[in-house]
Amino acid sequence: MPHRSAEPSRDQLVQWDREIVWHAFTQMSEYEPLIIERASGCTLVDIDGREYLDATSSVWCNVHGHRHPRLDAALREQLDRVAHVTSLGSSNPTTIKLARRLVDIAPRGLTRVFFSDDGATAVEVALKMALQYWRQRSDPRPKKTTYLALGNAYHGDTLGSVSVGGVERFHAMFRPLLFDVLRAPAPDMYRLPPDVTREGALAHYLAEVERILAAEHERIAAIIVEPLLQAAAGMVLHPAGFLRELRELTRRYDVLLIADEVAVGFGRTGTMFACQQEDVTPDLLCLAKGLTGGYMPVAATLATDAIWQAFLGTYAESKTFFHGHTYGGNPLGCAVALATLEVFDEERTLEKLPAKIARLAEHLARIARNPHVGDVRQCGLIGAVELVRDRATREPYPWEEKRGLAVCDWARTQGVLLRPLGNVLVIMPPLSVTDEELDHIARAVEGGIQATLEA
Ligand SMILES: *Cc1c(COP(=O)(O)O)cnc(C)c1O
Repeated sequence: MPHRSAEPSRDQLVQWDREIVWHAFTQMSEYEPLIIERASGCTLVDIDGREYLDATSSVWCNVHGHRHPRLDAALREQLDRVAHVTSLGSSNPTTIKLARRLVDIAPRGLTRVFFSDDGATAVEVALKMALQYWRQRSDPRPKKTTYLALGNAYHGDTLGSVSVGGVERFHAMFRPLLFDVLRAPAPDMYRLPPDVTREGALAHYLAEVERILAAEHERIAAIIVEPLLQAAAGMVLHPAGFLRELRELTRRYDVLLIADEVAVGFGRTGTMFACQQEDVTPDLLCLAKGLTGGYMPVAATLATDAIWQAFLGTYAESKTFFHGHTYGGNPLGCAVALATLEVFDEERTLEKLPAKIARLAEHLARIARNPHVGDVRQCGLIGAVELVRDRATREPYPWEEKRGLAVCDWARTQGVLLRPLGNVLVIMPPLSVTDEELDHIARAVEGGIQATLEA
């Protein structure tokens, strides 16, 4: 035979995928391989040639579509220069240009950029910077060593980010390894406490935060928050004004504000960054997922000048930030991130969003009338549909019933790839999604609810 088959067959790939590749957040005993071989725009193509719309942006990271010519070219051009340069004591033009661009577009006052490689590492960096800042600033506050986080928060899967996380089912197992944090309730507008109205929700949730701050501010280094909406919690929407008021509280009690925009950054909520909707500049801003348009693992933690200043000193003073990740600032990743930001301008991505957001809103309004739907939520081009057993009591379906997964499995038969958060169906397509694609996704969600819950 002229070609000894070094290439595994389709069935071989399926078998190896089932038996060797340990997939994230996946029960491997039940895993049915889905092997995507190619993609273009919002369409993914599997090894059997079947096509699927990428309705959750390959888990919230794709922005301008797959195989975007500008992004592909940026990556190739960088490859012709150098693939990797360490950020430990050296740099690269592409990395520098990206840092400059990020400072230009970020909320005013965030002037320094620390690169890492994933959302979780961006959060670890922010947590460590906050603590070290209080120890090293000219008026040190070494007792500030704890954090205030929100219920059901999700900030990544490394131990520091899990410590500030609050999703019971993912995080409870690891409790013996975690540091203690203070916890305020998630400002959830759907599942309000019994005596709280929607009108009173903002004041109620802020009062909960303030109660903790008033008692504990002397030992709190920072509050960490997912601005506007808590993604992994089930696209839990905060009341309008919560972020702005939180910023005021952190000022009053002398606590840093860390904004984790890993999920909501880069246009997802309708503005480049979610913080901009409430005119907020956090002290530390965590970015990842959409930063490279969904191409490469690059993350950034942006900091204010005040934080940066606290780390300056002579070599011997040891005020250095002793933290780094081998691939932080990787030029290939930074090249595609820079191109991602250029495409925002070239394609006027943000200007085209309001029409798509309105279209998604129409679909959600229709889906909301379904008796199995307890709530629909929307923030920009992020849509969520929460399935409930009982609309009046808001009683959820037991998670073991896998209602969300069943709807998504049905949608897959219609060529739409979704990934639910328990009973919450997530519609979060690339920002480049067309009207027709959005309609197709919404119809698949609606059809899936009808097919699986009304049967
Ligand atoms: C996904 C996510 C993270 C973690 O990012 P990774 O790149 O998966 O480490 C952190 N924070 C939020 C809000 C996220 O949605």
